[in-house]
Amino acid sequence: MAYDDQNIFARILRGELPAIKVYEDEQVLAFMDIMPQADGHTLVIPKSPAVTLLDLAPEAAAYTIQVVQKIAKAIEKGLDAKGIVLMQLSGASAGQTVPHVHFHLIPSSVHELGKHALEMGDQEKIKAFAEKIKAAL
Ligand code: 5GP
Repeated sequence: MAYDDQNIFARILRGELPAIKVYEDEQVLAFMDIMPQADGHTLVIPKSPAVTLLDLAPEAAAYTIQVVQKIAKAIEKGLDAKGIVLMQLSGASAGQTVPHVHFHLIPSSVHELGKHALEMGDQEKIKAFAEKIKAAL
């Protein structure tokens, strides 16, 4: 699928839009979701321009999932999460709203998730969760 370099996450990666970051390296960025489905909802994105998981090079996918695991451990430790939902939506038909591949880490239960990408979270609260996750990395 053609990659739109004006999508929100591409703009965050270029520093054109702000994000509450928890981790960054040369290949991957992790930051807080602004419409969280639970407290501590974090997104992990590869920096390579892929729309869905299916478009992502296997090497980039393999590295990104290593970072996903690293952030999941920090969420578990920093937020005392009892369980974490890992969600990845590929394609608008699956409900994907931002066309840059990303992994959701949601400290919650699949039975208790809030609505997807619906309601803005409290920025100060989100920042406080980010600090705890960063401290646990
Ligand atoms: P998708 O529907 O593509 O799987 O998920 C996109 C996610 O990005 C949603 O959970 C939504 O709340 C989040 N999101 C949308 N716009 C922004 C934004 O500008 N900044 C951040 N940090 N998250 C966003």
